[in-house]
Amino acid sequence: MRRDSLTALLAAALLTGAVMNASAAPREEAPFTLPDLPYATDALEPVIDEQTMQIHHGRHHRAYVDNLNLKVKEYPRLKTLDLEQVQREISSFDTAVRNNGGGHYNHSLFWKLMATPGQGGEPGKALMAAIERDFGSMDALRTRFSAAAAGVFGAGWAWLIVRDDGRLAITTTPNQDNPLMDVVAERGTPILALDVWEHAYYLKYRNKRADYVEVWWQVVDWREVERRFGNAQAPKQG
Ligand code: MN
Repeated sequence: MRRDSLTALLAAALLTGAVMNASAAPREEAPFTLPDLPYATDALEPVIDEQTMQIHHGRHHRAYVDNLNLKVKEYPRLKTLDLEQVQREISSFDTAVRNNGGGHYNHSLFWKLMATPGQGGEPGKALMAAIERDFGSMDALRTRFSAAAAGVFGAGWAWLIVRDDGRLAITTTPNQDNPLMDVVAERGTPILALDVWEHAYYLKYRNKRADYVEVWWQVVDWREVERRFGNAQAPKQG
C-alpha cells in the first residue's frame, strides 16, 4: 500500500472514531450532566487554587458523571429518578452507582456551598439559633466540624446535616457516600459539605489536610447554607 493511501485510511479511521465517540451516548442514555461551576475557576483563590478547581471539576467530577451515565443501560430506572432520589434508594444499585452517583451529588452540592473568600456572609438568625442550641457556639461548631474532617481516614467527606428531628449534627462518610443514602449510619439533609479527598487539596496543601480545612472556612457560602437549612426545616411535602 502506498504511504499516502495508508495515511488517508488512518485519518478516516480516526475521524470515524471521533464521530462514534461523539454519538456513543445519546441524550436519553446520558441523563446526568456536569453542572457548570457557579463562579470562575480562580474565584476561590487563594484558599483553593485555580488548577485544583480545574482538575477537580473538569476531570474528577466529570468522571463521576460519565461513569454514572454508563450505568443507565443496566439500570434504566436511573432515567426516571432525580439525583437526590438516587441517593435515597442507593441500596438498590451496585457499587459503581453508589460511588459515581454519590460523587456526582456530593460535588454538585460542594461547588454551591462555596464563594469568593469573604463574600459568603454569616449564618442568619434562624441558623445561628440552631447552631447555638446544638453546638453551644459557632466556634464550637467549627472546631468540631474541622476535627471530624481532619479525622476522616483516607478519602471521604464531612457534613453538617439537619436530622429528621430537626437537630443539627456533624457526620462523616467514607468514599463518595453521603447522608441522604439509605446505607449510611447517620442520615439527614446535608446543608454543609467538605470534600477531604486528597484530590481536593493535595496540589496546594500537600499532605496537610488540617491546613486546608482551617482556611476552607473562608470560602463557605453561609447564605447557601442558610437557604438549605430553611428548606430542610420546611414541612415535608406529601
Ligand atoms: Mn472531590
